[in-house]
Amino acid sequence: MAVGVLSLQGSFNEHMAALRRLGVTGVEVRKPAQLESVDALIIPGGESTTMAKLAHYHNFFPSLREFMSSGKPVWGTCAGLIFLANEATGQKQGGQELIGGLNCTVHRNFFGTQIESFETELTVPKLAEQEGGPDRCRGVFIRAPAILKAGPDVEVLADYTIPLDKLRSVASDAEAQEAIVDSDGKVIVAVRQGNILGTAFHPELTSDVRWHSYFLKMRMQRGETNRQCLALSDPN
Ligand code: GLN
Repeated sequence: MAVGVLSLQGSFNEHMAALRRLGVTGVEVRKPAQLESVDALIIPGGESTTMAKLAHYHNFFPSLREFMSSGKPVWGTCAGLIFLANEATGQKQGGQELIGGLNCTVHRNFFGTQIESFETELTVPKLAEQEGGPDRCRGVFIRAPAILKAGPDVEVLADYTIPLDKLRSVASDAEAQEAIVDSDGKVIVAVRQGNILGTAFHPELTSDVRWHSYFLKMRMQRGETNRQCLALSDPN
């Protein structure tokens, strides 16, 4: 079983290291054809405009969209989350091409500029339920996006309430401000929609590999379902 990590730009090394810690083979995906031989794909954090330009240059978009619709698990962290969203806001100069498929609207730089990057504790009951350990995890937010709207088919795994003293420094544009007012400062930062996982923060920059383990189980759950389907359709 091979897990691909899109390795055009960003924190792909850190994802590869997290997979290694779990004893899983990671594949640095640099050409579209490599997607044919991986069972799951991680799109790392980085800079989504640059990543989109490189993806365009290497003609990745058709294969990435095909991979998304294949039902194989895909996880986007930070810039990767933006890349997977159906819609991105907070864009300058018309924005960039998205892969799409995740039924969410993501604000690209919701938490402000690089100097507003921060770390916090997040409460994620699903992680403890499935992976054990505390129901809290470290959230590393680097010039991070946030999910402003999620469709009915999207499960919210974690949200974050912006502390009052930070309200002024985050949410720099009107759209972001409006989202905060509507939700009392609470924004969505981790979601799952079937085979798609999205986190606005960077689990690959912490020593807690439970997010990677959770993602790998999404793959196994899919395998099990497929096996069950085959068993059901097997006349013997
Ligand atoms: N906000 C960044 C972007 O637009 C993403 C930052 C990150 O991946 N750490 O690409």
